[in-house]
Amino acid sequence: MKPGIDLAGKQVLVVGLARTGIATALFCAARGARVTATEGRPESQIAETAAKLRAAGVTLELGGHGERTFVEQDLIIPSPGVPPTMPALAAARAIGIPVWSEIELAWRFLRGRLICITGSNGKTTTTALTGHILETAKLPVQIAGNIGTPLISRVDVSSDSGFTVVEASSFQLESIAAFRPDVAVLLNVTPDHLDRHGSFEEYSRAKVRVFENQTGEDAAVVNADDAMAPQYGPSNAEVYWFSRKKRIAQGCFVRDDEIVFRRDGTETVLLRRRDIGLRGEHNVENVLAAAAAATLVGVEPGAIAQGVKSFAGVEHRIEFVATISGVEYFNDSKATNVDATLKALDAFPGNVLIILGGKDKGSDYSILHAALVRHARMALLIGDAAEKIETQLAGVVPVERAGTMARAVEIAAAHAQPGDTVLLAPACASFDQFENYEQRGRVFKQLVREHAQKIAAKPPDRKV
Ligand code: ADP
Repeated sequence: MKPGIDLAGKQVLVVGLARTGIATALFCAARGARVTATEGRPESQIAETAAKLRAAGVTLELGGHGERTFVEQDLIIPSPGVPPTMPALAAARAIGIPVWSEIELAWRFLRGRLICITGSNGKTTTTALTGHILETAKLPVQIAGNIGTPLISRVDVSSDSGFTVVEASSFQLESIAAFRPDVAVLLNVTPDHLDRHGSFEEYSRAKVRVFENQTGEDAAVVNADDAMAPQYGPSNAEVYWFSRKKRIAQGCFVRDDEIVFRRDGTETVLLRRRDIGLRGEHNVENVLAAAAAATLVGVEPGAIAQGVKSFAGVEHRIEFVATISGVEYFNDSKATNVDATLKALDAFPGNVLIILGGKDKGSDYSILHAALVRHARMALLIGDAAEKIETQLAGVVPVERAGTMARAVEIAAAHAQPGDTVLLAPACASFDQFENYEQRGRVFKQLVREHAQKIAAKPPDRKV
């Protein structure tokens, strides 16, 4: 049984009014809570949202956060972007006010079974793939969380016989209390967001919390190839491992061309490796995790194979854009950290012209040396991090400071030979030159298309 919560008459504070905060405030107000929502931006910047919330009976505190607001509450729900170290939140916690992430609150109301997917990289791909496999198996399934719709918005449409696949970030897992997924998947833990979490230990602790409240009735799915896995600590759940490198006693692994699931000594072939259309070994890991999760909620191997085969991938994740004059262009704008870029490079045999750079997150780009030597012909640097990257890659691979994305595509196209690959996998955040990684990816794709049009419009070389 889940610990419920009766919101009627409770004083609830929602901190931050982006998509999740708005949905949370409306959800609580609809259940009879006395909701206050506080937001740093002034009324003039969120006029429409403010009007909608007031109409629902939400009290607003805009243009800043008053300290008293935080001490007069029964429950506080910070948005995923709000650091838990915010002094007013710490003060509220210190006097015993529960501070929950939105997924904690949503979970208490959510019906049906929950698969939660977290990790440093691969969450969105694995969440989308797991959802797609369950859909292929004709199970009632909805996808939520970080991937798009806040979990709280899916509560009212959840059903006892249905499934929800939720993508959870470390930010959301930091502030759970009793949150307990039926199946919890931890894909990997690599350094990311250290600017926010302070240390690697704190960051990995947040991710491991996904298993914290599980019992023997639940399943934990863990990557046996992840160097950090032995440090995850004990789990009360039934643990299933996945590995692309070794055989597993309980869980999912690769054996020659087969993806095998082994439970209590019985082995089942779920699919063939060649059924996987996605590029790169990291995507084999995502498939193993999704196939394990799907098996654990009862999906048959036939539907898993069919689901994996028909999965087209997610935009901005090693997304094929075009072949122009024998050169292939790929958009991996979502490679916002060094590990994702490593995986992207590894997905190509060689001859890659890679576009790197953007807003630095305190990363060590020298980690890329070996992969660049093996797979890249050239690196084009853009954005604020260009200088740091150039220094750290000195002598490893030919580097050119392109500055902008337009120039990077132009230079790459000029240097690329038939059989080469131009890959945007920048290892950095996008906020120095773009709104977000999606916009960065769209700009890249547009530039590639324009280049294709230019080439098509050029008259063919005439033999004299
Ligand atoms: P997330 O939601 O965790 O950011 P995505 O599926 O959006 O994960 O992928 C983010 C980036 O990481 C992409 O550049 C992708 O190519 C890369 N990636 C995907 N899966 C993995 C994995 N299992 N390990 C490492 N990198 C991955």
